[in-house]
Amino acid sequence: MEEVLKVVGLKKCYEEVKAVDGISFSIYRGEIFSLLGPNGAGKTTTMEILEGLRRPDAGEIYYFGERVQKIDMRIKERIGMQLQDSRFFDYLTVKENLEFFAGLYSRKNDVTRLLDILGLQDKSKTLVKHLSGGQLKRLAIAVALVNDPEVVFLDEPTTGLDPQARRTLWNIIVKLKEMGKTIFLTTHYMEEAEQLADRVFIIDHGRIIASGTVNELVNSLGMESVVEFDLDGTMPVEEYFKDSRKFEDGRYEITTHDPEKTLSIVYELARKHGVKIRNLVIRRPNLEDVFLHLTGRSLRD
Ligand code: ATP
Repeated sequence: MEEVLKVVGLKKCYEEVKAVDGISFSIYRGEIFSLLGPNGAGKTTTMEILEGLRRPDAGEIYYFGERVQKIDMRIKERIGMQLQDSRFFDYLTVKENLEFFAGLYSRKNDVTRLLDILGLQDKSKTLVKHLSGGQLKRLAIAVALVNDPEVVFLDEPTTGLDPQARRTLWNIIVKLKEMGKTIFLTTHYMEEAEQLADRVFIIDHGRIIASGTVNELVNSLGMESVVEFDLDGTMPVEEYFKDSRKFEDGRYEITTHDPEKTLSIVYELARKHGVKIRNLVIRRPNLEDVFLHLTGRSLRD
């Protein structure tokens, strides 16, 4: 496996905030690597350092096997970036915008092909000011690809999109991987990391707190199932189950390695307290449960 990017001991402070607090990782050619963490965890700062938009306070960066002190044009020709908040020329068409950005690089992707990959062919002659949120995100990814980069940085590409537009973008990201691109994806949606990522690094308060494939991370919990339910009254669930949690909407979750035993205790408790159990679901643990287990907080908070 060829290492296209390696980071060792990266640090960045903003006054007293340790935004990135000594993180290290490697990214391999052709994989989708995801940095997953809540708002403010340090994802954008990490990505912007690797894109050459911010300078780190400490740490080493290696691109394509070579240590780099500065992310200069030699590297920028080989990487593409979709920033969280992109700005375009509102009064130029989609195609004209793409041609403008393509003009900034010596390596070029075919603009018509890009429109095709991103599903923007029929918007080619549309002014950017008339695009929907999902179409703007796709245009931002098209712009990230104008120089036919080897590594593509996607910073929370589906934030703010409706579920259908999110799925469309996920399909596009899979297509980019199939084209051989290496993808660095930041997200705070665990479903996004679960759907797309070959490897997930979970970041919190500027530190990597866990890493691996989704299966490795979930298996590291050592729990088989999560039992979820609502109650129409009260009973002391938390007293009986150490790995339980009550959400703001009143729903309970119990992480367990013995779902049958858990269920029988829950039903026995409900009977004793005269409470009814509603909307019972037994599911496999997910990355949200991993984050909760490691931090005591929810990714969703
Ligand atoms: P989000 O999902 O909200 O973008 P993030 O994981 O990308 O979050 P960063 O944007 O990297 O996190 O921010 C990490 C921390 O650094 C946060 O506490 C944030 O408030 C702080 N921070 C980010 N940029 C600056 C800045 N320019 N000046 C001061 N503090 C900043």
